[in-house]
Amino acid sequence: MADLDSTNKYPVMGISIEKLKPKRVRKNIELTLWERLYIFEIVRGMTITTKHFVVNMFGFILPPKGKKRAIITVYYPEEKVTLPPAYRGRPVLVMRENGTEKCVACGLCESICPASAISIIAEERENGERYPSSYSLDMSRCVYCGFCEEVCPKEAVVMSAEYEGLAKRDRNSLHYTKEMLLRPEKSVKDRLEYIRGIYSKCNY
Ligand code: SF4
Ligand code: SF4
Repeated sequence: MADLDSTNKYPVMGISIEKLKPKRVRKNIELTLWERLYIFEIVRGMTITTKHFVVNMFGFILPPKGKKRAIITVYYPEEKVTLPPAYRGRPVLVMRENGTEKCVACGLCESICPASAISIIAEERENGERYPSSYSLDMSRCVYCGFCEEVCPKEAVVMSAEYEGLAKRDRNSLHYTKEMLLRPEKSVKDRLEYIRGIYSKCNY
Protein backbone atom coordinates (compact mmCIF):
# COMPACT_ATOMS: atom_id res chain seq x y z
CA MET A 1 0.00 0.00 0.00
CA ALA A 2 1.39 3.36 -1.00
CA ASP A 3 0.58 5.10 2.26
CA LEU A 4 2.41 2.62 4.46
CA ASP A 5 6.00 3.66 3.71
CA SER A 6 8.18 2.90 6.74
CA THR A 7 11.55 3.31 5.05
CA ASN A 8 12.23 6.97 5.78
CA LYS A 9 15.10 7.75 8.12
CA TYR A 10 14.59 11.37 9.04
CA PRO A 11 15.50 12.36 12.58
CA VAL A 12 12.52 12.95 14.86
CA MET A 13 12.17 16.65 15.73
CA GLY A 14 15.86 17.10 15.01
CA ILE A 15 16.82 14.32 17.43
CA SER A 16 18.89 11.51 15.96
CA ILE A 17 17.46 8.01 15.95
CA GLU A 18 20.40 6.83 18.06
CA LYS A 19 19.33 9.13 20.87
CA LEU A 20 15.78 7.86 20.65
CA LYS A 21 16.74 4.23 21.22
CA PRO A 22 14.73 2.91 24.16
CA LYS A 23 16.27 3.18 27.58
CA ARG A 24 15.34 1.41 30.79
CA VAL A 25 12.70 3.21 32.77
CA ARG A 26 14.02 4.48 36.09
CA LYS A 27 11.19 3.85 38.51
CA ASN A 28 12.61 4.83 41.86
CA ILE A 29 14.02 8.27 41.25
CA GLU A 30 14.47 10.39 44.36
CA LEU A 31 13.55 14.01 43.64
CA THR A 32 15.96 16.64 44.83
CA LEU A 33 14.73 19.45 47.07
CA TRP A 34 14.95 21.74 44.05
CA GLU A 35 12.67 19.43 42.06
CA ARG A 36 10.27 18.93 44.96
CA LEU A 37 9.63 22.66 45.07
CA TYR A 38 8.10 22.23 41.58
CA ILE A 39 7.93 25.95 40.87
CA PHE A 40 11.45 25.92 39.37
CA GLU A 41 10.64 22.86 37.29
CA ILE A 42 7.49 24.57 36.00
CA VAL A 43 9.56 27.63 35.06
CA ARG A 44 12.11 25.37 33.35
CA GLY A 45 9.33 23.63 31.38
CA MET A 46 7.81 26.94 30.34
CA THR A 47 11.25 28.17 29.21
CA ILE A 48 11.71 25.13 26.98
CA THR A 49 8.20 25.53 25.53
CA THR A 50 8.76 29.22 24.88
CA LYS A 51 12.12 28.54 23.26
CA HIS A 52 10.54 26.07 20.82
CA PHE A 53 7.69 28.48 20.09
CA VAL A 54 10.06 31.38 19.34
CA VAL A 55 12.43 29.24 17.24
CA ASN A 56 9.54 27.91 15.18
CA MET A 57 7.89 31.29 14.69
CA PHE A 58 11.01 33.21 13.70
CA GLY A 59 12.33 30.26 11.76
CA PHE A 60 9.35 30.62 9.43
CA ILE A 61 9.57 34.39 9.13
CA LEU A 62 13.34 34.87 9.00
CA PRO A 63 15.03 31.68 7.80
CA PRO A 64 18.77 32.06 8.39
CA LYS A 65 20.66 32.49 5.09
CA GLY A 66 22.85 29.60 4.05
CA LYS A 67 22.24 27.87 7.34
CA LYS A 68 20.36 24.75 8.23
CA ARG A 69 16.78 25.38 9.14
CA ALA A 70 16.30 25.97 12.84
CA ILE A 71 12.60 25.08 12.84
CA ILE A 72 11.74 22.19 15.10
CA THR A 73 8.49 21.18 13.41
CA VAL A 74 8.47 18.75 10.47
CA TYR A 75 6.95 19.63 7.08
CA TYR A 76 4.59 16.69 6.93
CA PRO A 77 3.74 15.04 4.53
CA GLU A 78 6.75 16.14 2.44
CA GLU A 79 8.96 15.23 5.39
CA LYS A 80 8.28 12.21 7.47
CA VAL A 81 9.65 11.13 10.77
CA THR A 82 11.12 7.79 11.71
CA LEU A 83 9.47 6.82 14.93
CA PRO A 84 11.32 5.16 17.79
CA PRO A 85 10.78 1.40 18.15
CA ALA A 86 8.71 1.94 21.30
CA TYR A 87 5.98 3.54 19.15
CA ARG A 88 2.84 1.42 18.74
CA GLY A 89 1.29 1.92 15.34
CA ARG A 90 -0.88 -0.39 13.29
CA PRO A 91 -0.49 -4.09 14.24
CA VAL A 92 0.88 -6.08 11.29
CA LEU A 93 1.53 -9.73 10.55
CA VAL A 94 5.10 -10.87 10.09
CA MET A 95 5.87 -12.69 6.85
CA ARG A 96 8.60 -15.30 6.39
CA GLU A 97 11.04 -15.06 3.48
CA ASN A 98 9.03 -17.65 1.55
CA GLY A 99 6.00 -15.36 1.66
CA THR A 100 3.99 -17.31 4.26
CA GLU A 101 2.83 -15.88 7.57
CA LYS A 102 4.60 -16.75 10.84
CA CYS A 103 1.22 -16.97 12.55
CA VAL A 104 0.15 -20.47 13.59
CA ALA A 105 -3.45 -19.45 14.25
CA CYS A 106 -3.30 -20.30 17.95
CA GLY A 107 -5.95 -17.69 18.65
CA LEU A 108 -4.23 -16.09 21.66
CA CYS A 109 -4.25 -12.60 20.15
CA GLU A 110 -7.90 -12.99 19.23
CA SER A 111 -8.75 -14.03 22.80
CA ILE A 112 -6.79 -11.32 24.55
CA CYS A 113 -7.77 -8.40 22.34
CA PRO A 114 -9.85 -6.14 24.61
CA ALA A 115 -11.60 -4.57 21.65
CA SER A 116 -12.47 -7.84 19.89
CA ALA A 117 -10.79 -6.43 16.82
CA ILE A 118 -9.19 -9.67 15.61
CA SER A 119 -10.94 -12.58 13.90
CA ILE A 120 -9.08 -15.69 12.82
CA ILE A 121 -10.06 -18.79 10.90
CA ALA A 122 -7.53 -21.58 11.43
CA GLU A 123 -6.70 -24.31 8.96
CA GLU A 124 -4.03 -26.96 8.49
CA ARG A 125 -1.64 -27.35 5.61
CA GLU A 126 -0.92 -30.75 4.09
CA ASN A 127 2.21 -31.03 6.25
CA GLY A 128 0.10 -30.54 9.38
CA GLU A 129 1.19 -26.96 9.99
CA ARG A 130 -1.52 -24.64 11.29
CA TYR A 131 -2.05 -21.33 9.61
CA PRO A 132 -4.75 -18.65 9.48
CA SER A 133 -6.71 -19.01 6.25
CA SER A 134 -8.29 -15.74 7.31
CA TYR A 135 -6.91 -13.13 9.71
CA SER A 136 -8.88 -9.93 9.88
CA LEU A 137 -8.27 -6.86 11.95
CA ASP A 138 -10.85 -4.14 12.46
CA MET A 139 -8.77 -0.99 12.91
CA SER A 140 -11.88 1.02 13.80
CA ARG A 141 -11.90 -0.98 17.07
CA CYS A 142 -8.20 -1.36 17.78
CA VAL A 143 -6.97 0.67 20.76
CA TYR A 144 -3.25 0.08 20.06
CA CYS A 145 -2.74 -1.59 23.43
CA GLY A 146 -0.20 -4.07 22.03
CA PHE A 147 -1.63 -7.05 23.94
CA CYS A 148 -1.79 -9.08 20.73
CA GLU A 149 1.92 -8.54 20.20
CA GLU A 150 2.76 -9.30 23.81
CA VAL A 151 0.84 -12.57 23.93
CA CYS A 152 1.94 -13.96 20.56
CA PRO A 153 4.27 -16.95 21.05
CA LYS A 154 5.66 -16.70 17.50
CA GLU A 155 6.44 -12.98 17.13
CA ALA A 156 3.91 -13.15 14.34
CA VAL A 157 1.97 -9.99 15.10
CA VAL A 158 3.82 -6.79 15.98
CA MET A 159 2.98 -3.16 16.47
CA SER A 160 4.54 -1.45 13.46
CA ALA A 161 5.48 2.19 13.03
CA GLU A 162 2.70 2.66 10.47
CA TYR A 163 0.43 5.54 11.33
CA GLU A 164 -0.90 6.72 7.97
CA GLY A 165 -4.26 5.81 6.48
CA LEU A 166 -5.84 5.15 9.88
CA ALA A 167 -8.39 7.96 9.73
CA LYS A 168 -11.18 7.20 7.26
CA ARG A 169 -14.70 8.39 6.79
CA ASP A 170 -15.91 4.88 6.05
CA ARG A 171 -15.44 2.41 8.91
CA ASN A 172 -15.68 -0.51 6.51
CA SER A 173 -12.45 0.57 4.87
CA LEU A 174 -10.68 0.00 8.20
CA HIS A 175 -11.13 -3.77 7.94
CA TYR A 176 -7.73 -5.23 7.15
CA THR A 177 -7.37 -8.70 5.72
CA LYS A 178 -4.38 -10.99 6.20
CA GLU A 179 -2.98 -10.01 2.81
CA MET A 180 -3.18 -6.32 3.75
CA LEU A 181 -1.45 -6.91 7.07
CA LEU A 182 1.49 -9.04 5.96
CA ARG A 183 4.90 -7.33 6.13
CA PRO A 184 8.40 -8.73 5.54
CA GLU A 185 10.21 -9.48 8.81
CA LYS A 186 13.02 -7.04 8.01
CA SER A 187 10.57 -4.12 7.84
CA VAL A 188 9.72 -4.62 11.54
CA LYS A 189 13.22 -5.65 12.64
CA ASP A 190 13.68 -2.71 15.05
CA ARG A 191 10.37 -3.37 16.77
CA LEU A 192 11.13 -7.09 17.10
CA GLU A 193 14.45 -6.32 18.76
CA TYR A 194 12.73 -3.87 21.05
CA ILE A 195 10.00 -6.25 22.19
CA ARG A 196 12.55 -9.02 22.77
CA GLY A 197 14.21 -6.61 25.17
CA ILE A 198 11.13 -5.48 27.05
CA TYR A 199 9.21 -8.73 27.25
CA SER A 200 12.16 -10.89 28.16
CA LYS A 201 13.31 -8.49 30.91
CA CYS A 202 9.78 -7.59 32.05
CA ASN A 203 10.72 -4.44 33.94
CA TYR A 204 7.23 -3.29 34.87
S1 SF4 B 1 -3.35 -3.63 19.68
FE1 SF4 B 1 -4.81 -4.23 21.31
S2 SF4 B 1 -6.80 -3.58 20.52
FE2 SF4 B 1 -5.40 -3.58 18.76
S3 SF4 B 1 -5.64 -5.59 17.82
FE3 SF4 B 1 -3.93 -5.74 19.28
S4 SF4 B 1 -4.88 -6.48 21.19
FE4 SF4 B 1 -6.53 -5.71 19.88
S1 SF4 C 1 -1.05 -15.05 18.89
FE1 SF4 C 1 0.41 -14.97 17.16
S2 SF4 C 1 0.48 -17.06 16.39
FE2 SF4 C 1 -1.33 -16.91 17.70
S3 SF4 C 1 -3.00 -16.41 16.29
FE3 SF4 C 1 -2.21 -14.47 17.06
S4 SF4 C 1 -0.66 -13.82 15.57
FE4 SF4 C 1 -1.08 -15.98 15.21
